[in-house]
Amino acid sequence: MIQFTEEQELLRKSIRAFVEKECSREYVRLCENERRPPWEAYKKLVELGWLGLNVPEKYGGSGGSIVDLTIMLEELGRGMLELALMVFRVAVHCVTAVLNYGTEEQREYFLPKVVKGELMFSFALTEPNTGADVSSLSCAAVPDGDYYIITGQKMFTTGMHIADWCLVATRTDSSGSPHYGITTFMVDAKSPGIEVRKLNTLGRRCVATCEVFFDEVKVPKKNMLGELNQGWKVIMGHLGMERLAAVAAFVGAAQAAFQEAVKYAKERIQFNQPIGKFQAISHKLAEMQTRLYLSRLILYDVALMLDKGKGPRMELAMMKLFCTETYKEIALNGIQILGAYGYTDEYDMERHVRESLVGTMGPGSSEIQKNIIAKELGL
Ligand SMILES: Cc1cc2nc3c(=O)[nH]c(=O)nc-3n(C[C@H](O)[C@H](O)[C@H](O)COP(=O)(O)OP(=O)(O)OC[C@H]3O[C@@H](n4cnc5c(N)ncnc54)[C@H](O)[C@@H]3O)c2cc1C
Repeated sequence: MIQFTEEQELLRKSIRAFVEKECSREYVRLCENERRPPWEAYKKLVELGWLGLNVPEKYGGSGGSIVDLTIMLEELGRGMLELALMVFRVAVHCVTAVLNYGTEEQREYFLPKVVKGELMFSFALTEPNTGADVSSLSCAAVPDGDYYIITGQKMFTTGMHIADWCLVATRTDSSGSPHYGITTFMVDAKSPGIEVRKLNTLGRRCVATCEVFFDEVKVPKKNMLGELNQGWKVIMGHLGMERLAAVAAFVGAAQAAFQEAVKYAKERIQFNQPIGKFQAISHKLAEMQTRLYLSRLILYDVALMLDKGKGPRMELAMMKLFCTETYKEIALNGIQILGAYGYTDEYDMERHVRESLVGTMGPGSSEIQKNIIAKELGL
């Protein structure tokens, strides 16, 4: 495991204490049952200054590293995955996006507001007919004076109903290769011409995912993120950071699921002994523990590489594949260990099953991660 600095150990301890205080099991369930975002916990995170963790000091943040952000998201994910993902949307779809691809004017506009917790963000890449094959996207942006006019439909845009801004991937040129002619924009989510419909999904009940309709939405040219027609590069870089941040939260959630399974295996008595004494159960838990340990190793290894400015394509894909499959395996084996009780909402395992199923689908499914690894092997 990487050697964390004293400050990083302190950061972990502080977030863990926050989670213990603000994200009780009852609170997580309340938000899920009411199908609403955990605003109270989110606002407290803002008050404590955590939204500025990866914002440079120049813009009012604390100038933390990618490893720091990973620690925060892992610990938040351990207590409340959906809270971690709310923070991730701001930290990645705004902060790292504008730091990596934005203009100075965009940084000065967005980053101080992020630190104050004033803005929520979402990311609209997927379309009804564009899933894994991102380069086939067709939502059009056409120039019109100082503006671009966006028309088209996006699918699974998580948090769009509560977003102030949305990072939208559009098609600005269809004449060349599909990888050319993509342009990304920061779009005011409340612009006239945008219609948002929430989708009913198996999980993600606090912050829903949405379909979004753009009908001649006017976006100032200065809101373009990155260069005209060069959005493929932006999206590929952005997806790397998105995968790391999402996986950090999933690894935290996987630890919570594992702890619930171990506790239950020690407490549940059948045939006059704790079920954890049966080798069928204890071996499952031993495998889970091993995979969790490896998940954290690869997660922080990749975070450290990104901090050093490397672009580890293969390692990022292996991380996304391994960690999200591990979370799913832990949740599915966990519910088997908890038996019938695990199938009720008396325990958290049923939520972990629902949430872990999404991790292997997006951002970038397990099959796509294997394709990337194979390609890096020259296959
Ligand atoms: C809860 C939720 C939240 C989401 N949030 C967002 C969001 O905020 N913003 C956003 O833009 N998108 C979001 N998505 C979309 C997510 O990123 C997509 O699910 C993902 O991009 C894959 O697209 P698809 O599910 O339509 O699968 P498809 O591309 O239709 O693929 C279907 C199946 O075929 C497999 N497949 C496809 N191509 C290949 C291939 N070449 N080789 C092998 N197998 C292949 C896939 O792995 C998958 O198993 C979200 C999805 C969900 C469920």
